[in-house]
Amino acid sequence: MAHTAEIIAVGTELLLGNIANTNAQELSQALSALGINVYWHTVVGDNPGRVREAVEQARRRADIIITTGGLGPTYDDLTKQTICEAFGRELVLHPDIAAQIRAVYESRLHTPMPANNIRQAELPVDCVIFDNPVGTAPGCAFEEGGVYVLMLPGPPFEMRTMLERWVVPYLRKLSQDAIVSRDIMTFGMGESRIEELLRDKMERMTNPTLATYAKPSEVRLRATAKAGSVQAAEALLAPVVADVTAFLGDIVYGVDVKGLEYACVSALKERGLTLATAESCTGGQLAARLTAIPGVSAVYRGGVVSYWTQMKADVLGVPADLLEKHGAVSEQTARAMAEGVRRVTGAEVGVSVTGVAGPDRDERGVEVGVVYVGLSAPDGAFCRALNLGRRRRDLLQNLAGNHAFDLLRRWLNALPLS
Ligand code: ATP
Repeated sequence: MAHTAEIIAVGTELLLGNIANTNAQELSQALSALGINVYWHTVVGDNPGRVREAVEQARRRADIIITTGGLGPTYDDLTKQTICEAFGRELVLHPDIAAQIRAVYESRLHTPMPANNIRQAELPVDCVIFDNPVGTAPGCAFEEGGVYVLMLPGPPFEMRTMLERWVVPYLRKLSQDAIVSRDIMTFGMGESRIEELLRDKMERMTNPTLATYAKPSEVRLRATAKAGSVQAAEALLAPVVADVTAFLGDIVYGVDVKGLEYACVSALKERGLTLATAESCTGGQLAARLTAIPGVSAVYRGGVVSYWTQMKADVLGVPADLLEKHGAVSEQTARAMAEGVRRVTGAEVGVSVTGVAGPDRDERGVEVGVVYVGLSAPDGAFCRALNLGRRRRDLLQNLAGNHAFDLLRRWLNALPLS
């Protein structure tokens, strides 16, 4: 049976805009991976009447209700009491949980447990208890008249820990089917164009389904299959993934790959090549993204952040007359930076980025968004000239970084470079 879920986030801070509802986002991602439809997100303040209304409405339209927040010990933490009233369940005190909470206070917090905290050890009768290894308030779940109610704490770290440890296995049991997804990762074409190309295929598909998700400056296509077993779901997915990948061609940089830099590192390892980076407008982003990957030291020599023009000359050996003639943001400089960092580090491949991240033009009047990514390798030096337009500085830097990795992965896989 297909389930329908509603997430109710309880907390006045959310309504005031003091914090973002990240719990709902994480829960929705987990539910969609489980193949459970989420049709509503509700946010309600710490007000018993309105929490009650929200719960009554949710039970009419969903068969899985997940709440976050309001499990604390204070007077405004009212989720459990209100839900129990709505579903006609009593709260019962669990002395063993009270003892655990007392122990957390005494051993970790070095203070006696405040009297109010005893309320956290009260749980609905006949519920499944979700232990909280990183906080004090346990979560819980019960089923009443075909509706499953799950209550989780508000602090995101506690919520996430409970979600992974207890909630996902609990929900998986409710669904008979195995659900498997594959992410087809692309770079170089906008989401709407990809959707246009794939619309016919997407509309015809029911199992697996195919959906597009735009990440900043790249597009992920998620194929999801449901079947009686994981193997059966994987067998349904394989031809669809092969077909879509072949159809989209070289904009696909991998399947179930976390990012372009990961595709580059795998290809460098396969080909036994080493890499070095020279960055100006990305300020070390390439180096940071590469060094976030465990085991990258086998292929990555290091990088230079040559932000100041003089550093491009002094450290990377970009000729002064070239800088003078063409400027720091130019095709010639990008190539010379990539060549320079190869020379300095002895790496087989050098990649560079130079551009204007904004918000103002550079001193030569080069427009914001003009970026050159360079690559130097034993077979020559290459450059991709880009006009990324005016956009937020961090987005522009991220897009420039993605272009640098895209140029690299294309060179590594002997694909057309532009
Ligand atoms: P506690 O035991 O800490 O009182 P609780 O379950 O009662 O936990 P709340 O008091 O509602 O949870 O929230 C605790 C904190 O968790 C909030 O101050 C807020 O920082 C964070 N938080 C609560 N709800 C959310 C949410 N939906 N998304 C992100 N953060 C949240």
